[in-house]
Amino acid sequence: MAAKLWFLAAAASLALSSPALAAEGATAPDLSAANARLTAILDKNYPALEALYKDLHLHPELGMQEVRTAGILAQNLRKAGFMVTEKVGGTGVVAVLKNGVGPTILVRADMDALPMEEKTGLPWSSKARATYEGKDVPVMHACGHDTHVAYLIGVAQALSAMRDSWSGTIVLIGQPAEEPLKGARAMLDDGLLTRFPKPDFGFAAHVTNLPAGTVAIKAGASSSASDSYSVTFHGRGGHGSMPAATIDPIPIAARFITDVQTVISREKDPAAFGVLTIGAINAGSAPNIIPDSAEVKVNLRSQSPQVRDLLRGGTARSAKAAAMMGNAPEPTITSLGGTGVLMNDEAMASAATAALTPVFGKGLLYAPASGQPMSGSEDFSEFVDAGVPSLFFGIGGYDPAVLADLKAKGEPVPTNHSPFFAPKAEPAIRNAVTAIVLSIVAGVRPTPK
Ligand SMILES: [Zn+2]
Ligand SMILES: [Zn+2]
Repeated sequence: MAAKLWFLAAAASLALSSPALAAEGATAPDLSAANARLTAILDKNYPALEALYKDLHLHPELGMQEVRTAGILAQNLRKAGFMVTEKVGGTGVVAVLKNGVGPTILVRADMDALPMEEKTGLPWSSKARATYEGKDVPVMHACGHDTHVAYLIGVAQALSAMRDSWSGTIVLIGQPAEEPLKGARAMLDDGLLTRFPKPDFGFAAHVTNLPAGTVAIKAGASSSASDSYSVTFHGRGGHGSMPAATIDPIPIAARFITDVQTVISREKDPAAFGVLTIGAINAGSAPNIIPDSAEVKVNLRSQSPQVRDLLRGGTARSAKAAAMMGNAPEPTITSLGGTGVLMNDEAMASAATAALTPVFGKGLLYAPASGQPMSGSEDFSEFVDAGVPSLFFGIGGYDPAVLADLKAKGEPVPTNHSPFFAPKAEPAIRNAVTAIVLSIVAGVRPTPK
C-alpha cells in the first residue's frame, strides 16, 4: 500500500480487542485437518517460494514496469493449473481456476517496488535502477510486494492441490502499480470484471512490521482515502528587479501553502480524521529571475466521504483564491491518482477471525469497525468499491528477536517504505497463504446484500 503506516497505528488499537469478541455468534468450522494438509503442502513448496522471493527482491520493478515480475508470476500460476491472461491493465496478470459449483473468489497480490535505495544489508539486496518520472533512480522492494507475489503463487499451489476442500471459481490477480494508486483502476478499466468471471468476494494480504505470527483483521474501514494533486500557478516571468512588469507565481504558491492548511484547522470537524501535506514545491532557477510558473504537489488523506469532499473542494478553492489574489489566471489542478477508504466486510472479518483464531492463537488480532483505520492507503479499495466485498489481512513479518533487540537499543522498528524494511519472508509468505486458503476452505462469506 501506499504509505502504509497503518500497521503501526493498527497495532495499538488491535491489541485492545480480543478475538473472542469477533467470534461471538460466528461458528468456527474445524480447520485442523485442512491446516495440517496445508502445512504439509507449504513444507514441500516453501523452499522454492523463498528462492522466488529472493529473486524478485533482487530484481524489483516500479509500477507499470513489472514485466519480469509478471512473467514469473504468470509462468508459476500456469504451472499450478490456472488459465492465465497477461497484460491486463498494463502489466497485470489474471489467473482463473474453475472447480465446480460455488462462489467466484478474488485473491489479489500487488507486484510493484519503490523508487528508493535499499539499506537493509540483506545478502539479496537490490542494486536495481529504473526510470521514474524521467529520472534514473534506485529501486527497492521496501513494501514487501515481493513476498506478496510469492504468497499468491503459494495460494495457487495450495488451492490447486486441495480442490476437494472447496468448490467454486478462483480469480487470482497480480496487480501492477499499487504504490502510485493506479494499478487497480487500470485493471478494472481493462475489463477485469467483464472479461473474467466476476468475483462475488475477495481477499488480499499485506506484510507489515508487526511480529511474525501476527494476522491482523480490521472490520469496516481499514485504510484512509488518498488523493494527490499537482497545482500549477501560472504567472508572467521577468527580471527580478522589475516585479511590477510580472505576475510572480512564487508568493502566490507560498500563500496557497499556508492558506490551504486552514481547510484542516478551521473547516474540518476537529474530531474527524484528515491530513493535508504539501510534498513538493518546484519553481524558479536563479535569484534574479521571476519564473513563469510554480508547481505545488498536495496529498490529502481522509476516512469519510464528507471529509474527502471537503479536502478536495477546499484545496481547489484555496488554489483559485490565491491565484485571484495575485492577479494571476486560474491555476491548473491535475489529479496524480488516488483511492477511497478500504472497507473490510464485517461478516468476512468476523467469520475469518472465528475460523483462524484456533490456527494463529494469540497472533490473531481483531479490531472492530469502531476502531481507528490506518492513515495509509491501499488501492485494493477500488475492487471493493466496484462491487467485490473483501477482507484485507495485515501479516506480521518481523522476527520477535529482532524486535526485542531494536527495543533494547532504543531504535525504531523500520516501517514499510523504510530503506531498512526487511520482513522475514517465511512467516510473511506462509501466514498469508494460510490465512487466505483456510478462509476459503472455511467458507468465509460477506454480509448478505
Ligand atoms: Zn504495499
Ligand atoms: Zn507501499
